[in-house]
Amino acid sequence: MAAASPTRNWLQAASRTGTVSQGENLPWPLAPGSSRLALPAMSDLAIAVAIAGVFGTLIGSFLNVVTWRMPRNQSVVTPPSRCPVCGTGLSWWENLPVIGWLALRGHCRHCDTAIHPRYLLMELAVGALTAGVVLLCLDPVAVPGVLGHGPWQGAPWLMKSGWPGWLVPALSASALLTLVWYLLVASIIDLEHTIIPDELSKGMQLIAPVLAVCTYNCAIGTFPIDWLVRINEIGHATPTPGVFSLWLVGIVGGAALLLWLSEACLRLVYERYMAPNEPWTPDDTRGVVVGVRWFQTVIALWTVLTLIVAWSLPGVAGVILAMQLALAVFGMLAGWWSLYLVGLIGTVAFRRNAMGFGDVKLLAPLGAFLGPFGVLYALAFASVLGSVIGIVLLALRRTVQIPFGPYLALGAIAAMALAPAVHARLLAPLLN
Ligand SMILES: [Zn+2]
Repeated sequence: MAAASPTRNWLQAASRTGTVSQGENLPWPLAPGSSRLALPAMSDLAIAVAIAGVFGTLIGSFLNVVTWRMPRNQSVVTPPSRCPVCGTGLSWWENLPVIGWLALRGHCRHCDTAIHPRYLLMELAVGALTAGVVLLCLDPVAVPGVLGHGPWQGAPWLMKSGWPGWLVPALSASALLTLVWYLLVASIIDLEHTIIPDELSKGMQLIAPVLAVCTYNCAIGTFPIDWLVRINEIGHATPTPGVFSLWLVGIVGGAALLLWLSEACLRLVYERYMAPNEPWTPDDTRGVVVGVRWFQTVIALWTVLTLIVAWSLPGVAGVILAMQLALAVFGMLAGWWSLYLVGLIGTVAFRRNAMGFGDVKLLAPLGAFLGPFGVLYALAFASVLGSVIGIVLLALRRTVQIPFGPYLALGAIAAMALAPAVHARLLAPLLN
């Protein structure tokens, strides 16, 4: 492996000297596979994963309702599930995931209308995904190889917080499951309706940083630790919230200013370069501006909260939490700006609308989980995947239009699994 990162050196020093850690002497929490949590016994692990799988099928059943109703602007809570053809309400056992569909043999009890097998597949798939995420979070070394290092390892600040150890995998599993379920719903709705509902993407922008800091969101790339602490010649580290605040406010302020300027840029590009058969109206501009304003508000909110953490929480836990929050904010900005710029440049180059603004709003919150480097890997993986599948479809002479949202979702998952290893082996040595 590459040389130890500055982060690692500092924290090793901190836990040796106890200056910042205030007497804690815990093993280094950021190294792969060195969680201080005692792994559950095999049988306990199997039981937990099995319960997660069953719980996942229930969630899958609910996500079926969400993917059907949300793009049709119907409430996802009421009325209870009913047959879309004859309107008969489902009894309690027919609502049971997997079992209900199998007992009915895929047909309505009253009118015999076929119930699509996708509902069964969704329940099974979400059950399997949920079990898999819980296994990864409870036992991060269960999957060997590149997957040994990633966001499922648990939040470093939580490990240093002195809170009960079981909270670490419980919170990382909850956060990652929320993300996986969200990506699945957004992808299915995008595939069927070529739209990602604003409730989904704007809601995720708002909560992404709090979910992200429940996970190991610093797996990809490094963070300049001299923003956060000053280390003297004998290894004593003192937090420097003033330096950290200047960097944070400077970067976020610059990005916010650019966002504001980008509105004018957008008007210029879209009203001038769009193809005649794709008219761009002032209403379209207004829609984008509303999205930009929401994103700016979310970024401002999380910047203020990060500053409060940096100034008010003492000790190693507070310093690492501030770092994780800053990575989440920078990741969201990187996710937003990368795709936004690609869209603007593409529109000028190809003289047609090259930006799905829904995709920008989807990628931004993924940056909170992946960090500013990881989200670029996600975009790269998504583009490669999109090109490969596009070429295959072209070769098969299929003319289906696949929206970019599902590719971004897969790209983000791929980045979580592969980017830490790719970055450490390929790019980090070049940057050092
Ligand atoms: Zn029916």
